[in-house]
Amino acid sequence: MAKVYYGNDANLDALKGKTVAVVGYGSQGHAQAQNLRDSGVHVVIGLRRGRSWEQAKRDGFEVYTVEEAVKEADVVQILMPDEVQANVYREQVAPCLKPGAALFFSHGFNIHFQQINPPEDVDVVLVAPKGPGHLVRRVYEEGFGVPGLIAVHQNASGKALEIGLAYAKGIGATRAGVIETTFKEETETDLFGEQAVLCGGVSQLVQNGFETLMEAGYQPEIAYFECLHELKLIVDLMYEGGLSGMRYSISDTAEYGDYVSGKRVVGEASRKAMKEVLKEIQDGTFAKRWIQENEEGRREFNRLAKEGQDHPIEQVGKKLRKTMAWIDKEQQEPVKQ
Ligand code: NDP
Ligand code: MG
Ligand code: MG
Repeated sequence: MAKVYYGNDANLDALKGKTVAVVGYGSQGHAQAQNLRDSGVHVVIGLRRGRSWEQAKRDGFEVYTVEEAVKEADVVQILMPDEVQANVYREQVAPCLKPGAALFFSHGFNIHFQQINPPEDVDVVLVAPKGPGHLVRRVYEEGFGVPGLIAVHQNASGKALEIGLAYAKGIGATRAGVIETTFKEETETDLFGEQAVLCGGVSQLVQNGFETLMEAGYQPEIAYFECLHELKLIVDLMYEGGLSGMRYSISDTAEYGDYVSGKRVVGEASRKAMKEVLKEIQDGTFAKRWIQENEEGRREFNRLAKEGQDHPIEQVGKKLRKTMAWIDKEQQEPVKQ
């Protein structure tokens, strides 16, 4: 069984008198920084001048350049996009790291695929909330926490786990449970989950279902509701009660159709593809491709993003969601930050 840490296993004293530099103030950065501050931890923010800089100032933080923030920090949490971390680390973090400092991440990509190679005298720790930043903040304010993962890659001080658990407590994660893992396991399972199931798998399933109904002559609005909109309702049931809880709530007709048709739609071919996807994550093929894509200016990424945005499901969805008063208007037209 996995080792899970809760509040009693962690002591915030491990961060007493220390300064935590949160580098990056986006989804995770703003949430982790604000939660830590509310937990009594001294936090400074490291950034370049720009939108986030202004936001962090407005939120009452001491904001510095990355170099300045790292220079005074005992713990440096790297919360910039994964694709920029290696360059910023090499140029602005590494030269300023205090000896004996702890370097933290919320995703293992750059350490596991050796894009960042920290010196031996620093602790290297992963504390990853298993939820988007805005939820990490909201749930903390409500007195709960989003569950998290913790992993120690390098334990120079002998106290890496202790400091990691204190940090996890500071962001509220130990209220929900923090599972012990490794950088390898976190990185590979995170990439697999998002590619095969959560993002890639689900998006394609939705899109293929929508196209199948459209091609058969059904109205796009109906296809949208059946294949995309209702997904949330089903996922909420899964989240609360697992697959069985979901099946308990749906009609027996839906449940029978689930059993006899699900395996036909997502069958052996998908399982084989999942194994290939996993293998390419494990052997570094995917990481190499993504790193190269970024180095070459993201031509493929931008082309695929445009294709996705232009798909008919997005056109009909945009119209339909305008009539859904209960959906937050800001979320209807997401602006990529
Ligand atoms: P975001 O894209 O939301 O954060 C971007 C932040 O980094 C912004 O404040 C941006 O500032 C800053 N930034 C970008 N480039 C630079 C630079 N060159 N120098 C200084 N600051 C820079 O990232 P996320 O919060 O999504 O991800 C952060 C980490 O957390 C990643 O490792 C990710 O894998 C992990 N994670 C993310 C989750 C999520 O829900 N998003 C969940 C779990 C883990 P500016 O405004 O100036 O651009
Ligand atoms: Mg991920
Ligand atoms: Mg139905």
